[in-house]
Amino acid sequence: MSTIAFIGLGTMGRGMVNNLLHAGHNVTVWNRSPEQVNQAVTRGATSAATLAEATKDADFVMYCLSDDAAVREVVLASGGLAETVNPDSIVIDLSTIDPETSAEEAEAFAARNVAFLDAPVFGSKGEAAAGGLWVVAGGELETFNRARPVLSAISETTHYMGPSGNGARMKLVGNLLVAAQLEALGESLSLARKAGLSLHDVLGVLKVTDFRSPIFDGVGAAVVAGDYTPSFALNLMLKDGKLVQTFAERLGVSVPGTRATVSTIERAVEAGFGNENASALIKVLASDAGVDLTDETADHSTGLLTADASAR
Ligand code: NAP
Repeated sequence: MSTIAFIGLGTMGRGMVNNLLHAGHNVTVWNRSPEQVNQAVTRGATSAATLAEATKDADFVMYCLSDDAAVREVVLASGGLAETVNPDSIVIDLSTIDPETSAEEAEAFAARNVAFLDAPVFGSKGEAAAGGLWVVAGGELETFNRARPVLSAISETTHYMGPSGNGARMKLVGNLLVAAQLEALGESLSLARKAGLSLHDVLGVLKVTDFRSPIFDGVGAAVVAGDYTPSFALNLMLKDGKLVQTFAERLGVSVPGTRATVSTIERAVEAGFGNENASALIKVLASDAGVDLTDETADHSTGLLTADASAR
């Protein structure tokens, strides 16, 4: 079993820490806001007063932070992890950030001969809590193989994507599709509602067709129930949409669909939905169409919307 320093006890980090503890690892945690630490300590983690204390004896230093600014502050700033971490540790960044920031991290750690992986994750709060994330990692293959036991503790599958930065790149490729699915679902439910279709019937069809998707199932049922409880905050989705755009622009790739989705997200954030779930972008699309997606007056239920579909 390994000694792990884990930094960032947000929505995702909390679930990851629980699963690392469950797998028998010794985990020391540090979080900017100390109130998040107690729950991890109750489950068996050790609390560190400082970053340096958290990382000093760690085999692995893992962090899951909001964005590039947070990674710069915790890792790349003067006195940050890149300068202080024990050179025998393996460092794993699980945050969703710009591949260029990831490259700066790789360079800073390489300068001190510290092994580093960029290893962002797919899945959300539920998958983090259940140890069922999907990890996409970039870095040296040997580092990846040494990190497998700890990555397996938080994930259903772990994917080696190639050299440093490829985990961060894969994450943005995937999140382009997540954003597109949310926008598409919002447009199609608004259209269906305006056309007088029962959204329960619509979701029943979406659940079984050849264009079905767990996102359509889970988010669709939640939207009809009016539930925008955050698992993945809309503010983070805006950050990711902009990262996808910048990444694509650098490579000279046109992403008009992402541009449209980012514009929808910006309007939803301006409307005050930034701390709600990312699916709250759908509220803007419904409002544009002049429909209320929770107002299910017609009942043409085909029986295809099962309890399973309405749970997510
Ligand atoms: P979150 O709940 O907002 O947690 C963010 C964490 O980052 C918190 O621990 C926060 O500390 C810390 N943090 C932010 N700025 C910091 C700073 N300047 N210095 C030190 N710590 C700082 O976010 P999350 O949902 O867990 O997401 C974390 C990362 O995973 C993000 O990159 C996100 O895009 C990615 N991700 C999220 C999901 C999801 O469904 N939620 C799915 C896949 C990937 P405080 O507690 O002090 O604020």
